[in-house]
Order: sequence, then C-alpha cells, then structure tokens
Amino acid sequence: MTDIVIARRPASIKPSPSIAARALVTQLRAEGREIIDFTLGESDFDTPPHIVEAAYQAARSGETRYTSSNGTKALRAAIVGKFARENGIDFTEAQVVVGCGAKQLIHAAFAATLDEGDEVIVPTPYWVSYPDMAVVNGGVPVIVPVGEETGFKLTPALLGSAITPRAKWLVLNSPNNPSGAVYTPEEIASLAAVLEQHPQVMLMTDEIYEHFVYDGQTAAAFTRVAPQLAGRTLVINGVSKAYAMTGWRIGYAAGPLKLIETITLLLSQSTTCPSSVSQAAAVAALNGDQSFVREANAIYETRRDRIVGLLDAIPGITCARPAGAFYVYPNVSGLLGKRTSDGTTLNSDLDVSLFLLQEAGVAVIDGSSYGLSPYIRISFATSLDTIDAGCAQFRRAVESLA
Ligand code: PMP
Repeated sequence: MTDIVIARRPASIKPSPSIAARALVTQLRAEGREIIDFTLGESDFDTPPHIVEAAYQAARSGETRYTSSNGTKALRAAIVGKFARENGIDFTEAQVVVGCGAKQLIHAAFAATLDEGDEVIVPTPYWVSYPDMAVVNGGVPVIVPVGEETGFKLTPALLGSAITPRAKWLVLNSPNNPSGAVYTPEEIASLAAVLEQHPQVMLMTDEIYEHFVYDGQTAAAFTRVAPQLAGRTLVINGVSKAYAMTGWRIGYAAGPLKLIETITLLLSQSTTCPSSVSQAAAVAALNGDQSFVREANAIYETRRDRIVGLLDAIPGITCARPAGAFYVYPNVSGLLGKRTSDGTTLNSDLDVSLFLLQEAGVAVIDGSSYGLSPYIRISFATSLDTIDAGCAQFRRAVESLA
C-alpha cells in the first residue's frame, strides 16, 4: 500500500473538540447510553418558518444557480442594511462578502493575508478554530493568557506585550465563545488605542453572538466604537446563531475593499459561492421580522440564570455569570485532586469532562481545548428540563468523589 504523506500544516492541526465531542455522544447513544449533551455550539430552536418559506420560494422560482462569488446582490444589500440599522456602521455592498459560514470567511481572511511566520494574536479562552486556522494558513498563533481575573477580557497591557513586528492580526470575539464575556465600549476604546500604535496589526472582530447579550445590555460593535481602525478591521458575522441557521451555512464579513476582494477571489477558487437557496433564506432572516431574535434572547437569559444557579451550588464548582453568548465556563479547580469511585484521580479539566461523561452521562467540553484551564464549557442552548436533569446528574457524580 502506498503511504499517504500528509502535508506539514494539516498534520499539525486537531479536529474541532465540539465536533469530536458530538461524534463521541453519537457513538455512546448508539451503544444505548443516555447522554445529556451540553457540548452543542448551536441553538436548539428551529429556523423561523418565514425564513424556511423564503428558501422554498427561491428553490421553486429557479434561484438554483451559481451566484456571484461574493454573494447575491440582494443578500449583500440586506447585510449593508443590517450593519446600518443594528450597528450604525456604513459599508458599501462591495465591502461585504458572503461565505459558507463565518468559519469559511475567517479561514479565507487568514489565507488572504498571512505569509509564513506571520503572527495571529488570540486571547484565551478562544473559539477553538482560530489558532488552527492560522496554522493551516502558515501563520503562528500567539496565545495571550487571559483569565477570570479580568472577566476573561484582554487588557491593553496584555495586548501591548503580545504585539511584535510580525503581528498581523488580533482576533477578538465578543460576546465570547466559550466565556460569554462581552467587551464594553470603554474596553474596546482602550484596546483600539493600543492598536493605533501598531499600524501593521489588523483587527478581526467576530461578532457572531451579538444578539445574545443579557441583563438589558447590548453588544458594542467594534467598528462603531473604533472607526479610526475601520481601514484595517474585518467584521465577522453570520446568520447561524442569531436565526438558528447553523445548517444553512451562511456567514458574512465586511471590511476594507482590498481584503474583501482577495477573500472573494479565494472563495471563487474553492466553493464558487454559497448555496443560492440558503442565501435567499438569509435575506429573509436579515430583512424580515426580528421577533425571533428577541424571543430567543429572553429564553437564553432564563436558561443562563437557571444553569448558573445550579452549577454554582455544586461543591467544587464556581460559575461566573456570562454577560452574553450561550455558554457558561465554570471553574472546576475545586474538583482537581479528588478521587473517583474506581480510584482515578482527577488531575485536569479533561479528566473532569471524561468523568462527567462516564459517571454522570453528561457531555461537556474541557477548558484546555479553549486554551484556559481548569474550566469546562457548558452550552445552555438546550431546554430548562435538560439543564435541570444534567445539573442534577452532575451534582450526584461530584458528590460521589472522595
Ligand atoms: N465564531 C464563533 C465564535 C463561533 O462560535 C462559531 C460557531 N461555533 C463561528 C464563528 C462559526 O459559525 P458559522 O460558520 O456557522 O457561521
């Protein structure tokens, strides 16, 4: 048999832990185990009917062909409208590109800009894909350890000390997956002041969870707060989270024309364009009735309050209340060093997540996957009943530890 030699870059990356966790949950369920799944990075709601209907109508009326590589004019106009209406930012249609999910656009943005050895600054805890996508495109992730003491938020001092002459990007994600941290306008302004001293650094601001912010607050759009950086800021967003449309695969990016054109060129040589039918659905999502987003926000807030209360009451767990997104990131340091009934010692958050899966039948993701230990990520994009049952099983398992 011929030995397949995998190239250096793909050989050095890992599968996404949430995708790996999902595969494990599916396997355990197939073996007959009942698993409560807290690993999902997606809404448990269905896509609103008016959006599905728009896709159906598009398919029926012949919108079934390739579109332009940056997306249909109708969708780019809807995105421009969304930025003006919701964020107070003016982009032209040419400054917008549509991709097969925000994920593809982040990847393409790195491919468009990174030369071998260029650095991508990523504060912890981070969405797992950023470092690997930088590596695949020849970049070097510069992980900045940011912890709970700053509310899981990068500070100007930490940013300043991470920037080198090779720094090409700073990636910020607010509301954050996995911590739920949301940057205030003042915090954004103070980070922007640092970036102003370093014109070689571009800012990627991933705002995909912007609609899920609680306690009457809203997410500040970076470009609105720091327009002086607009010439080197790429906004990443999409319909996946806001409209429960993860499977439709539509994301978008907006920013400097030259960057958008290069991203479009790369997409034209990979996927050609996103699904025409999904693009029609996204137009309906962005231009249509927004009540789904408000209702989902209220439901997530109730779930957040429930899960934070239940987790925080478990001995050994402390759970900060996230300001946004649909994850909690509890600290599990109080469980480390404890022994399970079969005599194994829990030495890491990965051990804790495996213990919870085995003992409690509860699937969570270890914090080490997000670059910050000892934590676990729990998604509350699931029903209150599931939250109650999962936390009760979690508690019983923890109480069995010695
Ligand atoms: N950014 C963040 C922070 C995410 O959590 C996700 C999805 N898990 C994405 C981007 C990608 O979303 P999509 O590709 O579905 O648009």
